Amino acid sequence: MFAIITVRKALHVVDLNGVDGMADIRCEGDTLTLGAMCRQRTVERSAEVSAAVPLVVEALGNVGHPAIRNRGTVGGSIAHADPAAEMPAVALCLDAEMVAQGPAGGRVIPATEFFDGFLTTALAEEEVLTGIRFPVDGPGSGSAFAEVARRHGDFAMAGVAVHVRLDGDTVVEARIAVSGVGLTPVRATEAESSLRGATAAEDAFAAAAAATSSTLRPATDRLRPGRSRPGRAVLDGQVPALSSAPGPRSSAATPLGSRCNSFRCTPVVTTPVRTYSEVSAKAVEDSPSGRSST
Ligand SMILES: Cc1cc2nc3c(=O)[nH]c(=O)nc-3n(C[C@H](O)[C@H](O)[C@H](O)COP(=O)(O)OP(=O)(O)OC[C@H]3O[C@@H](n4cnc5c(N)ncnc54)[C@H](O)[C@@H]3O)c2cc1C
Repeated sequence: MFAIITVRKALHVVDLNGVDGMADIRCEGDTLTLGAMCRQRTVERSAEVSAAVPLVVEALGNVGHPAIRNRGTVGGSIAHADPAAEMPAVALCLDAEMVAQGPAGGRVIPATEFFDGFLTTALAEEEVLTGIRFPVDGPGSGSAFAEVARRHGDFAMAGVAVHVRLDGDTVVEARIAVSGVGLTPVRATEAESSLRGATAAEDAFAAAAAATSSTLRPATDRLRPGRSRPGRAVLDGQVPALSSAPGPRSSAATPLGSRCNSFRCTPVVTTPVRTYSEVSAKAVEDSPSGRSST
């Protein structure tokens, strides 16, 4: 079955490919700036980005397929603001800054103010996103990205981006952003608070995972009113959780960048990932009509 989604009729198409500097990757001091026109695949394969902000690289590996990432841009993904997309969640998680340019000059928009609603951002009509600034990981930082998709390469049903910083065994900073559960990516602020000041151990991460799952309220499916998005079923029991595993990485662990000093932050799924048919069955149960929303 084919679906046609009409977002907006374009009056003008502007090609940004030739604009100088818009595809640059620059790491200066504690800031990594990605030009909005950086291809997702270029960023994913950048050793500089991997060392500076490993979460960006890890999340990009989940975007569609390499052929999509060869053409798709980091700025295009963020400006498009699909709530299920990886890069908006990463930008929100890391408190990135969006650099915009318009006829009145430039301005910087914090990620927390950028995602306004479904496919809607704070960019004004005449503004262009020129770059995205990410804070470079400091000592004691660790990050991870995990998502659940029906098939490899599909847009995820739900995903989670996590960044923590430890001082010794204590979590001093925790940032968690979840995709696919609302009209925009959302920060799991209760889970973040529960982690801050806690000792980095399995029970603290399990509590944060539970807080994430219990406080989020996934939207119903916009295209099929009254029916839950599969994200509801995902959050019911299998939102990816954090676990901290000091020492050598287990085979199940996700590799982190070299800047992740003395610990690893690994996304795990708290209960076994259900198959697509199981998720569909849950969506049927949740649906008032009893019919699958997929
Ligand atoms: C088959 C397929 C599978 C995909 N799977 C995923 C996935 O799993 N996860 C995911 O995150 N994405 C996925 N995508 C999206 C893809 O990765 C791109 O991010 C997306 O298509 C945007 O492409 P683009 O960068 O060429 O931007 P465009 O298509 O050129 O632009 C997208 C929108 O953003 C605006 N825009 C673009 N750049 C700017 C700018 N610099 N300033 C202001 N506005 C701008 C455009 O006007 C347009 O409204 C998928 C796409 C396809 C086709």
